[in-house]
Amino acid sequence: MFNKVLIANRGEIALRVVRACQELGVRSVAVYSEADARAPHVREADEAVCIGPPPSSQSYLLGDKLIEVALKAGAEAIHPGYGFLSERAWFARAVRDAGLIFVGPPAEAIDAVGSKTAARQLMISAGVPVVPGTTTALRDAKEAAAIADTFGYPVLLKAAAGGGGKGMRVVRAASELESALASAQREAQNAFGDDAVYVEKYIDGPRHVEVQVLADMHGKVLHLGERECSLQRRHQKMMEEAPSPAVSPELRARMGETAVAAARAAGYVNAGTCEFLLDRDGQFYFLEMNTRIQVEHPVTELVMGLDLVQWQLRIAAGEHLPFEQKSFTPRGWAIECRITSEDPANGFLPSTGRISHLHLPSGPGVRWDGGIEAGSEVGLHYDPMLAKLIVHAPTRALAISRMQRALRELVIDGVETSRGFHLRLLEHPDVRSGDMTIQWLEAHLDELTRGSAPDDTIRIAAIAVALAAHQDKQVRATPTAADSTHSESHGASWRAVARREGLRRE
Ligand code: ADP
Repeated sequence: MFNKVLIANRGEIALRVVRACQELGVRSVAVYSEADARAPHVREADEAVCIGPPPSSQSYLLGDKLIEVALKAGAEAIHPGYGFLSERAWFARAVRDAGLIFVGPPAEAIDAVGSKTAARQLMISAGVPVVPGTTTALRDAKEAAAIADTFGYPVLLKAAAGGGGKGMRVVRAASELESALASAQREAQNAFGDDAVYVEKYIDGPRHVEVQVLADMHGKVLHLGERECSLQRRHQKMMEEAPSPAVSPELRARMGETAVAAARAAGYVNAGTCEFLLDRDGQFYFLEMNTRIQVEHPVTELVMGLDLVQWQLRIAAGEHLPFEQKSFTPRGWAIECRITSEDPANGFLPSTGRISHLHLPSGPGVRWDGGIEAGSEVGLHYDPMLAKLIVHAPTRALAISRMQRALRELVIDGVETSRGFHLRLLEHPDVRSGDMTIQWLEAHLDELTRGSAPDDTIRIAAIAVALAAHQDKQVRATPTAADSTHSESHGASWRAVARREGLRRE
């Protein structure tokens, strides 16, 4: 195992990697921007180095600087986390060229699946089902129309270099094709400096189901079952679970074998994820491969009973995977909610401020992977995801009620968060029955954010209690010793209201 690892990231994932290092007896080196000087990942690491001002282009994205810091600190490896430089083949290559180990796949594997069209070609040759469509860039609308006719409308135009849903257009009729292609190409050129766009069939009402793979350097590739990630807003996942309510053991085995074939075709090593669309008929199609640890990895850890980040480090250090495929059967059910500093009542506008109070949920089956604490400043420089709340229970129904209980225990004061939205989501009959598609959340957004959110209700309750206290004080002419007891009892009644309503103070 390594003696020392540099963590090229921030927030909850940096802290997650620090913890994995600590348990493996590996020294950790954190890096931080000036905005993160007091962040928990900085304090918990064995060493920490400031790498620049707050904008990530001047700090967390400076690959050469990170390598220099790692060399100077005497680290043998760099863990990239997710986001930032984690999926940049040039960074993986530069780390290797500097004589360090990149905790992730080889640069060649990142390249092999980096472009959507190249990945589609590779997967077709490996026998992995992809969505019907082209594997090369479209020349013009005439060519697009001819291809679209072979599988029918609606079709989806996609940027070959795509990511984050950019350069993507749904086209419902041949007449819309020409203008949609032009605008997709323009958007792709602006976002990626590459206007290559291809066309595929638009799958109606699919789920997003992804399979975790783990591959060592010695040719062993295993899959760790699936995660259901259909609940998305603007292609951003909001709540994930493992296993998927739509996947039978037989389908799990087929999807898992397909993910293993995809990983083998890419020459994959370390932890990776194959994303699939799963349609209503149980057909699944390869979408893309994510060549890093995923945000939602904890749900897999909980149902499979292993530490994926520790295995990333162990694989990078050359260890053999000691497991057999048959040892991976999901046990119980795990759900994750991404707690973001966004205001659902205001179109998910990012909220900023200082976290004045933080109370974390605990008790059986509750896990908090966070990067914040009381006193943390939440700004606009980075992703609004503050933490992940994850629960594990014997059944899906129990996992849902455990998550509801944990969300009610959670108190974050100082910024608006997605907490109340998650509570509403978990009350919805479709979510409770597991009947969701990738379009479901956007289609129900109004219903889920309309009216007073639970957090608003509690504010109203708090005002009512304060008013009552005020009136009471006016009636009582002079302050007496009884007053303090009295206001305490108001505090207690306020908490009682909150608890009874299943609500919490903002
Ligand atoms: P990006 O890399 O830009 O995120 P993806 O190929 O991963 O693009 O697709 C983003 C999302 O768009 C998917 O998670 C899914 O919700 C939807 N999507 C992608 N391809 C299709 C398709 N062929 N039919 C229907 N929905 C799709």
